[in-house]
Amino acid sequence: SVSGSGSISTDSERTPIRVDSQDSQVSDGEATDGKGWPRQNSLSMREWDIPFDDLNLGDALGTGHFGTVYRGSWYGDVAIKVLNMDQMGDIDMEKTLEAFKLEVATFRKTRHENLVLFMGACMKPPRLAIVTSMCKGLTLFTHIHIRKDKFNMNRTTMVAQQISQGMGYLHARGIIHKDLKSKNIFLQNGKVVITDFGLFSVTKLCFGNRKGKGLSIPRGWLCYLAPEIMCSLKAQQNQLDDELPFSKASDVYAFGTVWYELLCGEWPFKAQPPESIIWQVGKGMKQTLANLQASRDVKAPLFPISPSPLPSLRQFAEKGKPKHHDRHYHLPKDTSHSASSEDILMSCWSFKPGDRPDFVRLLNTFEKLPKKRLVRSPSHPIQLSRSAES
Ligand code: ADP
Ligand code: MG
Repeated sequence: SVSGSGSISTDSERTPIRVDSQDSQVSDGEATDGKGWPRQNSLSMREWDIPFDDLNLGDALGTGHFGTVYRGSWYGDVAIKVLNMDQMGDIDMEKTLEAFKLEVATFRKTRHENLVLFMGACMKPPRLAIVTSMCKGLTLFTHIHIRKDKFNMNRTTMVAQQISQGMGYLHARGIIHKDLKSKNIFLQNGKVVITDFGLFSVTKLCFGNRKGKGLSIPRGWLCYLAPEIMCSLKAQQNQLDDELPFSKASDVYAFGTVWYELLCGEWPFKAQPPESIIWQVGKGMKQTLANLQASRDVKAPLFPISPSPLPSLRQFAEKGKPKHHDRHYHLPKDTSHSASSEDILMSCWSFKPGDRPDFVRLLNTFEKLPKKRLVRSPSHPIQLSRSAES
């Protein structure tokens, strides 16, 4: 059945589509007559449209902030991400449909072996869904945080290289992932497969804490957010991603966090309350790898974990406005120099977006990374550093 799905996608690859150069402008995907090649646009959009009833929905795999993902079959095994459109008003529905079509238009342009295969979408409200190939392996999240698998340096580097390849491709095509995290990275027989790129705005539209007061922060999300995004989080509003400064550089920051997870076996700022993380990241503070091995007993952070009484999130964010600039970690351009794991981490986590490397630079750096250097200790100790002032 898997080969069945493969042949389907190959067939559609061979279908002559003459609208590719215009794809980025196809935001609504409907035949809007008069300009350009409306018919072909409509055709090319329809090509990806899967009638919801054609899908065989199986078990739910889980619910993220986008909606629910089901195992399913459609000429083979697929994963079906169904948008949660409950409790949505007409205006929200319209906005969501727009955002959704735009994201489908983006998604279908991706073809890379480290990216999940987009197979089609259901685009008739209220049934909006995205159909991708089913990832067979486990996510990096499951490997690292659930199974506590240890990755040696060779494997760590290989995984990081493949993530960088997939991300470099996305960026070259002008696509920002916006939600790069270990839960969205699968390992399939040693091959990295990245999922969920560019789906963030639909996510937020559907689930963006519309009624609650205060900002609801999904667990494990915060440590992937770059300082410039942290600083623009607003405490009291429902916020769409177009108001947040996502960029290629913020993807690189998120990649830095995945790199940290791979090396340390845990998230940075583990077990700290969101306010504390926002404050520290907003000030340009980072966790280092320096004491990965040596200081397994160091637990005392330099900053209060739970300041009392807690100031509001907004105060934290404002306090966090750039006052301190971190030391600059530029990865060497020169091929004769090599960088350490720590250099990579610190450069990805640079306070200023412009100081972060791009994935091309990262790939060059990984190639020169000394192998077998870091041995992770069983207790994964970390230490807080005030890199802003060091
Ligand atoms: P999150 O990424 O936060 O875990 P999602 O809504 O993206 O939330 O995914 C929900 C569940 O479905 C997760 O367990 C995820 O691993 C699984 N999943 C998502 N996409 C796929 C896929 N293409 N293949 C296999 N499992 C998937
Ligand atoms: Mg996901």
